[in-house]
Amino acid sequence: MDPIDLLGVADGFSDEERLIRDTVRQFVDAKVRPNVGRWFADGTFPRELAPELGELGLFGMHLQGYGCAGASATAYGIACMELEAVDSGLRSFVSVQGSLAMTAIHKFGSEEQKQQWLPKMAAGELIGCFGLTEPDFGSNPAGMRTTARLTNGEWVLNGGKLWITNGGIADVAVVWARADDGVRGFLVPRGTKGFTTRDIKDKLSLRASITSELVLDDVVLPADAVLPESRGLKAPLSCLNEARFGILWGAVGAARDCYATALDYAKTRVQFDRPIAGFQLTQSKLVEMALELEKAFLTAVHIGRLKDAGRCETAHVSFGKLNNVRAALEIARQARTILAASGITTEYPVLRHANNLESVLTYEGTSEIHTLVLGEAITGIGAYR
Ligand code: FAD
Repeated sequence: MDPIDLLGVADGFSDEERLIRDTVRQFVDAKVRPNVGRWFADGTFPRELAPELGELGLFGMHLQGYGCAGASATAYGIACMELEAVDSGLRSFVSVQGSLAMTAIHKFGSEEQKQQWLPKMAAGELIGCFGLTEPDFGSNPAGMRTTARLTNGEWVLNGGKLWITNGGIADVAVVWARADDGVRGFLVPRGTKGFTTRDIKDKLSLRASITSELVLDDVVLPADAVLPESRGLKAPLSCLNEARFGILWGAVGAARDCYATALDYAKTRVQFDRPIAGFQLTQSKLVEMALELEKAFLTAVHIGRLKDAGRCETAHVSFGKLNNVRAALEIARQARTILAASGITTEYPVLRHANNLESVLTYEGTSEIHTLVLGEAITGIGAYR
């Protein structure tokens, strides 16, 4: 029995899925794992990593054409799992680029916009961000105040976005704004007059990730800056659903890394003349972690197969995000207790993962909102207001 995969769930992966898992794992273990504790402590994310991630085909991996890998949903999920096994910040970087910014352009952009942006974004030469959340509108983006007015054939955007991943390093921001005919998406290139960003520096979570404020002050854009097919809030919400799918897999990676670290530590750390893994209380913790990890993994694989079969509904993704992030957070906290004092530094990954998972629990729909999505799916009654 594999102690990290008690039911042998990964044995059901196809050869291609196994290859993707191993390739991404080898890359992150060699290039990211040795450095990520320092990046987390310093509050930085090395943008220079982007071309290498692009070469691996990780940006917009599930999209077809325009230099994207066109992989299955499950293969993309597996990649997210391996990325987040090292750090949620890395997976967030890839999710925002591929599932949010590139997906918005791929789904709602004109042919010219797709040709202009997608191949370079897939290659990691250009970075994108996705600005939906505003200071006063998080869970309820329908209230957004950022506006877009069409005047003399040009768009003028005013407003601001907050908590935007990759904002400060993005070459292009996908900004959602209220136009006369409803919410529309706009492509705002870095350097456009009136468009500025400010990074949020004092985070205690997701520190190896850039999170920024976007300020739009009379930003003038050409008429073709709008994503022509984006109409209404459904457009950004459909992108979020893609990103959440990556998150429900990524959480399994973070949980696995915490559990594997705790298991390893428990077998070598000696107290009272024996490894702490020999104490019943430690075994109980490890078993609980292993059960929750495997259930989360099974959930991810099942939702991946549903998505590949075209049968994945929004509530399925909410199920996965709610369950898997919650399980991962609990596993990370339990792992920290097994490492005790050693668990509180960046020498080991467990508290870094736990802190990161606090953000993952909140972004892309809070645990409360996903509870309400499932509540509505079960009862048929919406309870959002
Ligand atoms: P609020 O909406 O103010 O919620 C506060 C609390 O009230 C929560 O517990 C919430 O669940 C609860 N609540 C709200 N409404 C209800 C209700 N109807 N019923 C019950 N409880 C309710 N956004 C982007 O657009 N792009 C990004 O790239 C991005 N990256 C992020 C990165 C990080 C690190 C973080 C932390 C956030 C990021 N976000 C991003 C924003 C994120 O999506 C929001 O934080 C999230 O939607 C919640 O909004 P809020 O923080 O304003 O909380």
